[in-house]
Amino acid sequence: MVSNDGGASRSMAQSVQPLVKPAEQLAKRDALLARLRTIYDSKEILTESAQLAPFESDALTAFHETALAAVFPRTTEEIAATVRACYELDVPFLARGSGTSLSGGSLPIPGGLLIVLSKMNKILEIDLENLRMVVQPGVVNIWVSREVAAHGLYYSPDPSSQIVCTIGGNIAFNSGGAHCLKYGMTSNHILGMKVVLPDGEIVDIGGKSLESPGMDLCGLMVGSEGLLGIATEITLRLMPKPESVKTVLASYDQLEKAGQAVGDVIGSGLLPVALEIMDRLAIDAAEAAVHAGYPPDAQALLIVELDGPAAEVAPQFETLIETLRRSGASKLVIPATEAERARIWKGRKAAFSAVGRISPDYLVQDGVVPRNKLGRALREIERLSQVYGLRVANVFHAGDGNLHPLVLFDNRVPGQLQKAEQLAGEILKMCVDLGGSITGEHGIGVEKLPYMTYQFDESDMSMMYAIRNSFDPKGLSNRGKMLPSQNPERPSPHGPHPLEREGVIQRF
Ligand SMILES: Cc1cc2nc3c(=O)[nH]c(=O)nc-3n(C[C@H](O)[C@H](O)[C@H](O)COP(=O)(O)OP(=O)(O)OC[C@H]3O[C@@H](n4cnc5c(N)ncnc54)[C@H](O)[C@@H]3O)c2cc1C
Repeated sequence: MVSNDGGASRSMAQSVQPLVKPAEQLAKRDALLARLRTIYDSKEILTESAQLAPFESDALTAFHETALAAVFPRTTEEIAATVRACYELDVPFLARGSGTSLSGGSLPIPGGLLIVLSKMNKILEIDLENLRMVVQPGVVNIWVSREVAAHGLYYSPDPSSQIVCTIGGNIAFNSGGAHCLKYGMTSNHILGMKVVLPDGEIVDIGGKSLESPGMDLCGLMVGSEGLLGIATEITLRLMPKPESVKTVLASYDQLEKAGQAVGDVIGSGLLPVALEIMDRLAIDAAEAAVHAGYPPDAQALLIVELDGPAAEVAPQFETLIETLRRSGASKLVIPATEAERARIWKGRKAAFSAVGRISPDYLVQDGVVPRNKLGRALREIERLSQVYGLRVANVFHAGDGNLHPLVLFDNRVPGQLQKAEQLAGEILKMCVDLGGSITGEHGIGVEKLPYMTYQFDESDMSMMYAIRNSFDPKGLSNRGKMLPSQNPERPSPHGPHPLEREGVIQRF
């Protein structure tokens, strides 16, 4: 959730009752700080509440917590020594990238240590021959493509937050972006990693090759939301920039027609690199923020992009235009220059943050439905919007069926936040009921904890707990995220979910 209320919604966050006595906690804190002083310069250890305040939340600002302390390692060895100290003293810890998580993934753990990776921001190796790059986790996503642009290369996963979010955060959430339909999400572009395990051991997994022997441990790490350890060196796959890119912006007089056009495009045998939808509210927001020049009368926009060798893309683009015409598009805009194409994408990429221009607060959800259920899902979202009396803007990766409904509300109006939470929860459940998922790319974090057992049955959950326990039997690494606690004495470090407090959902 993103909130523009300057902190008014913070009452949502619940403080945890410490399980250990205050005296014990103080002793533990002192022991940890003493260990940290053997690893870090004093300037790199923050303990004052004013110093820790900037790290209290991530992009889900409704939740906030204060960490016990924050440290800023520069090397794998410093992280390993830090994690070992936490392990020996039973202190939970959390890696933090840029803090752009939309699900509370980088929310501090009460009584826990924040390991901030902003100083681990070096590109360690560029292997142009093999199209590989090795980076530290604090490297910002867009830096990778910028670094190799002169060689005609790029890094494909492109979250809309790519100018700030880090490769470490991308790994934890298996992040995606508008251009992931054809080439895949982060998991398809990470080949190897150095990882500090939750007891401080350093291991190397995967490698530089696309085919690594043995179990796919890299695959296990990607998307595990920091529960299995901290990635400290990451081997990425680079790709040659396509010879040709063709983009079209199609306007529709109804959102449903745009949804149907997605099926028509895929059904025609084309595999676009991007297939994105924005509805009227999202268009209004993007226009207000970046003046993308979108058609003023459109009720929905579809952005479709093809890429590849010029000889292939040219005939495919003709098929695409014909398909969009037949799908009922009222207007097709084909950018003539790179600047015009960039403007179309600027509006789409700015859409989330731009919604702040048309609503004081909003919740962003991240459910997925099978592509052929898109129309039904959009109709249901519209119905729920009317039932709850709250506007919902839709801007999403239509090709993947990855919806991003933005529930608009005003936190100054008593009860609106709770209503918005309920509406967002109903959308997630609808996604599961339609055969989809509660998250496509933003992760479970803290926000979607209560929906895990709506999505997964007992045996799925047991498998995940078993994996977690084999990596981290003490449950220290990013405690309280992704997996609802199994320990009844420690239900959740973040207290009950807001809906749970109202009796709308039950803790599982
Ligand atoms: C405006 C906006 C647009 C967005 N658009 C997209 C989008 O298009 N697609 C998308 O997928 N997401 C999107 N996001 C969400 C967010 O940017 C991504 O989840 C991103 O990957 C988080 O990166 P970060 O560096 O900010 O990580 P943080 O928020 O700091 O951390 C996220 C998680 O990663 C873990 N972590 C961080 N580093 C490591 C590490 N080295 N090893 C292990 N775990 C680690 C943390 O513990 C935490 O659980 C958007 C967010 C915003 C605010």
